[in-house]
Amino acid sequence: MEVSNKENEEQIGTEVTPNYRNFPMVPRVIFGNGCFNQLGEILLPKRKSVEAPIIFLIDDVFEGTSLISRVPLFPNDQIIFISAEEEPKTDQVDILVKQVRSEFKELPLGIVGIGGGTLLDLAKAVAIMLNNKGKSEEYQGWDLVKKPSIYHVGIPTISGTGAEVSRTTVLLGPEKKLGINSDYTTFDQVILDPDLTKGVPKEQWFYTGMDCYIHCVESLNGTFLNAFSQSYGEKALELCKDVFLEDLEESESRDKLMMASWHGGMSIAYSQVGVAHAMSYGLSYLLGVRHGIGNCLVFQYLEEFYPEGVALFNKMIEKHNISLPKGVCSDLTDSDFDIMINVALSLEPLWENALGAEWEKHISPEKLKSIYQKI
Ligand code: NAD
Ligand code: ZN
Repeated sequence: MEVSNKENEEQIGTEVTPNYRNFPMVPRVIFGNGCFNQLGEILLPKRKSVEAPIIFLIDDVFEGTSLISRVPLFPNDQIIFISAEEEPKTDQVDILVKQVRSEFKELPLGIVGIGGGTLLDLAKAVAIMLNNKGKSEEYQGWDLVKKPSIYHVGIPTISGTGAEVSRTTVLLGPEKKLGINSDYTTFDQVILDPDLTKGVPKEQWFYTGMDCYIHCVESLNGTFLNAFSQSYGEKALELCKDVFLEDLEESESRDKLMMASWHGGMSIAYSQVGVAHAMSYGLSYLLGVRHGIGNCLVFQYLEEFYPEGVALFNKMIEKHNISLPKGVCSDLTDSDFDIMINVALSLEPLWENALGAEWEKHISPEKLKSIYQKI
């Protein structure tokens, strides 16, 4: 994203050089079926103290499964199972950090997150907060983190969010649902093992996969689009079309969706998401609707913003026999709608990306209400 920051614009003759953002990327990634088995050797060079543990935050759907016996545990290491029933909260991060600090004399050598976007975001946030003072809610926003996080590894077990590549960790705080966006958020290592996504239930596969598809549509149709975002967005979109509209072998489909998620995440790094995400944040804030399904609930009614994207989405829904819940907003009061509308409209960069600098002229609270009422 090009950020025009007047103070930093450098005058060279009569030309003005914009001040471009300098983003971190995941420095190490391993891809392939079964590559999870290399986790032990990947962590080994980080084990510089016998006292300090590596903490594994793992989605509790894996409790008692064979995956757990493959986690390369040293005597002081710890596994903490966490439910992904609810999306991550700032309080939850603070409690985890306190627990780890009180149980171990030394700071952990690393945090490994194994699961979907929920677990990946928790791992990022815990790694940041173990090295930073105060509460995690104080860091929700842009570039508020002062000190580097501790070493952290992300291992996705469901594909779509792009949380494995992004420089944010989205948390529900007491006042807002907002990411800790910082250069220290990005993982130091990512393990992409498509086999880990084998057990994902079909509906969840679709909803989280659609998060990726919607990232592509919102990025490619946004006003912030540039060649960097476009190149990743187009690739991710092509992969999503293969996965959701063609009849692929399951293993090819798993491989492709994992790479679609990666590219979709890269695409929004240098642009932004749009209308579906803004409105989905409102649903999530008020009703606790999860990210993937929330995006789908909104996106189905956005044909006037994304006509081609919504048409393809409808084909995908039909092909996979997905029936989205109905009547989600039917019992809400006017003040409930106002809360959701305010959350959605507060996400200015998303609207600016979707509708341009004069976005406020093209959208109104009434318009948002009419869309929410359909959901
Ligand atoms: P999730 O982590 O919430 O998990 C969804 C469900 O799938 C859970 O019930 C989980 O237990 C289950 N699951 C995961 N892997 C499984 C497997 N292999 N087998 C069986 N079940 C499995 O899902 P998600 O959609 O990946 O993540 C949503 C979260 O990601 C939200 O909190 C959202 O805010 C966040 N997010 C973050 C970013 C980012 O850049 N940081 C981007 C988009 C979304
Ligand atoms: Zn998303």
